[in-house]
Amino acid sequence: MANVTLEGVTKRYGDVVAVEDMNLNIEDGEFITLVGPSGCGKSTTLETIAGLTIPSEGTITIGGREVTDLPPKDRGIAMVFQNIALFPHMNVEDNISFGLRLRKFEDSEIDERVERAADIVQMQGMLDREPDELSGGQRQRVAIARALVREPDAFLMDEPLANLDAQLRVHMRTELQRIHNELETTTIYVTHDQEEAMTMSDRVAVIDGGELQQIDPPLTCYNEPANLFVAGFMGSPGMNLVEGTTVEDGFESEHFTVAFDPRTMGVEPGTDVTLGIRPEDVHLAEEADSVADPTDDIETTTDVLEPMGNEIVVYLLFGNEGDTDMGESDSSNQLLMTTDPEADISANETVRIVLDRSNVHLFETASGEAFQHGLDQPTQAEGASGTEAETDD
Ligand code: ADP
Repeated sequence: MANVTLEGVTKRYGDVVAVEDMNLNIEDGEFITLVGPSGCGKSTTLETIAGLTIPSEGTITIGGREVTDLPPKDRGIAMVFQNIALFPHMNVEDNISFGLRLRKFEDSEIDERVERAADIVQMQGMLDREPDELSGGQRQRVAIARALVREPDAFLMDEPLANLDAQLRVHMRTELQRIHNELETTTIYVTHDQEEAMTMSDRVAVIDGGELQQIDPPLTCYNEPANLFVAGFMGSPGMNLVEGTTVEDGFESEHFTVAFDPRTMGVEPGTDVTLGIRPEDVHLAEEADSVADPTDDIETTTDVLEPMGNEIVVYLLFGNEGDTDMGESDSSNQLLMTTDPEADISANETVRIVLDRSNVHLFETASGEAFQHGLDQPTQAEGASGTEAETDD
């Protein structure tokens, strides 16, 4: 097992900067996920750790040893990829042990390792099968076993579950966590799927445009996103982001206001800000009693309802009545709310909602950086027009 560090790692391909000044400090035994949209530089980052790509700048260490220019075989790592390239003419046992035989391990050592790995991935009794006699999930487990027998200092995995169907993906997610809990080997996992990142990782490194946006435990990324990109990327459905301005006594957008004292959070009135609120923190006003710290009521109109079984996703529209057909909706006049599956709500009706102030996020629109997660109560007495801090609905 080993810690892995990247210091100032940059990778350029001609004019394309695939990875820019990446700094990561991955602890021994940690499960870290690199997550971000396609093309953001996740795989390139992983490839520099693996030795499949040499960075243009920066250094990489594994277990305290600099490996920046070492070939993959000398780095003490094992990789699992999306495309499981098993040897078709070899049975499971030979596929798993191939690397060890190549490295001239003793037969007894090979047998022992293969048996242990097959046990961990629950493929005992299938060692004689050929790849075409296996399901997709079983083939992926063979690929994982092949990495396990190497007993590496670190596992590097690039979208290893991407080719599996949805149900199997969820199952294999649990299996990978179980294997990690058992072996506690440092694992660096690449995915574009924020749900996979949320559910599997000790920490998530969110990447956009080749740059690290935030590295934190999944719930910190979810509850305290460092910037607008992380806010929008983590969570499904995503966070509502409403552009507006700070005024003397709060936030003002085209469609609603929220009262607070911007100066207590170091934001000058007149600053362009974006208010973020997750769909689960938007509530019907009639349920405001159960909300810790509700805003004043905001009037809106329901558009489409998506019953999910455990909740209903409600699309709310702002704007003039009659102006709310689906064609008119875009993110600037739309707000998503998730509500109880039993809620008495239907499409195209006027509803009053409240936001949970303790989960309102404010970002500086220009830089995208977070100002605040959770609003304080507006100052009631001293100060300019604090008491007028009410919504104007
Ligand atoms: P991700 O894994 O997040 O989808 P990649 O790391 O594969 O992203 O790619 C990051 C960027 O670098 C992309 O713009 C991609 O086109 C570019 N890139 C990656 N590999 C190469 C390469 N071998 N040659 C040129 N450009 C590349």
